[in-house]
Order: sequence, then C-alpha cells, then structure tokens
Amino acid sequence: MEYLDLTPYEYLNSALPETSIGWLGPEHGVQGGTADPLTAAEVTMLRAASPRVGRVTMGWHACEFCENAEGNGEYRYYLPDGRIFAAPTLFLHYVERHCYRPPAQLLDALADPAPLHWDWRAERLCLVLLDENADIGLRAEAAVGLACWDDRRAYAALWNSLRGDDDLLDCAGDEIGRSLAAFSGREYAKDLTAVTLHTMVQYGIEKAAQDDYQIFLRTFS
Ligand SMILES: [Zn+2]
Repeated sequence: MEYLDLTPYEYLNSALPETSIGWLGPEHGVQGGTADPLTAAEVTMLRAASPRVGRVTMGWHACEFCENAEGNGEYRYYLPDGRIFAAPTLFLHYVERHCYRPPAQLLDALADPAPLHWDWRAERLCLVLLDENADIGLRAEAAVGLACWDDRRAYAALWNSLRGDDDLLDCAGDEIGRSLAAFSGREYAKDLTAVTLHTMVQYGIEKAAQDDYQIFLRTFS
C-alpha cells in the first residue's frame, strides 16, 4: 500500500480519524526526498516513541526499495493536540535504511513531548474496547492506544474489558495485559498483582517491557 504523507488514513477500518505517514511505494518513492535523513538522535527519539505496534495486519509486506525487510503491523502516534499518525512498521526501516524523513508535524511533536490529557479520542477508545459487537482488531487497537493516557479512566476500561467475552481475551488478552502493566505502581492499579488473570492477559503483563521492533519488523541484512 502506498499513500501520500499527511493524507487521511484509509488502509484499514479505524476507530478514530488518523493521518498516514511513511506509506512509501514505487509511485512516489521516498517522499520528501533523501537529502535530509534523520540524525542518530532523531532515530533514537522515533524508536522510543514506537514501543508498541498499534495494529497487526494480515500477512507481511516487503520493503518497496530493497528485499531486506518486511513488516506486518502499524504504529500509532497519539499527539497532545488531537492528531493521530498511522505508519506501517516498515516506517522505521525506511527512516534508517532509505533516508526517509517523516513530516515535521510528527518530528516536532515528538521532540517536545507532553502528557496526553483525557479527550474524545480516549473516550472513543474506551467505548470501542468495551463494545462486544465491535471488530476484535479494533478492540485490540483500542487497548493498545489507551495505555498512552496515564489516567485511571483508561485503566478502568482495560480492567472492565477483562469481564467481557472470552473471544476478546483469547485474541487480544496479551495487548490488554501489556496496557494494564503500563499502570503498574498507580494506587488505583493495585488489583493488578492481587488476582489471577486470564492466561493471555498474564502473558501480556509479563512481556510488557518487550519492544515490538524485532517482532513486527524483520530485517535480513
Ligand atoms: Zn528497504
């Protein structure tokens, strides 16, 4: 899939309006040119802002410019001003190997990080997560996204999702667990270690410190 940077995201259904970045391909090449690659510090910043894949996609998609990498997921970047950027996991490979420079709108926001205040996006993610009729992929995406808000309402929604249907926990329990673990140490999250949870949720909590980079982006050189 190839989309111009800063156009509305439309690859998959989404719970929220998002903006595409880094969906590079043969028609437009490395958008923005290759003359101004990220510095090592900027790459480190981008990696740090990409700890988890927000959405796993069907199948692996190979790099459009070499045969040395493939990815099967998408990153989400929730910015304090309300924007959400959606990028394929190959995004990091394009940055590091093909001198792609993401739009300044993302880089400037990452360089000046601020906590996310509770907003309509968080409310919407709570509703999707707890909607038993919603698509499981969207519910998993909501579970990942909610961990970006350091707010007890996000924790409450994740916790309440544990009481729901087994389909959700069987398919996305690990993502819910990873998100719950983000609230470790909060006073309101003390139940987290006091009870035995669904196997997948427990697994997610245990692997919470793991970076997705090596899981959803394979490189061969
Ligand atoms: Zn490549």
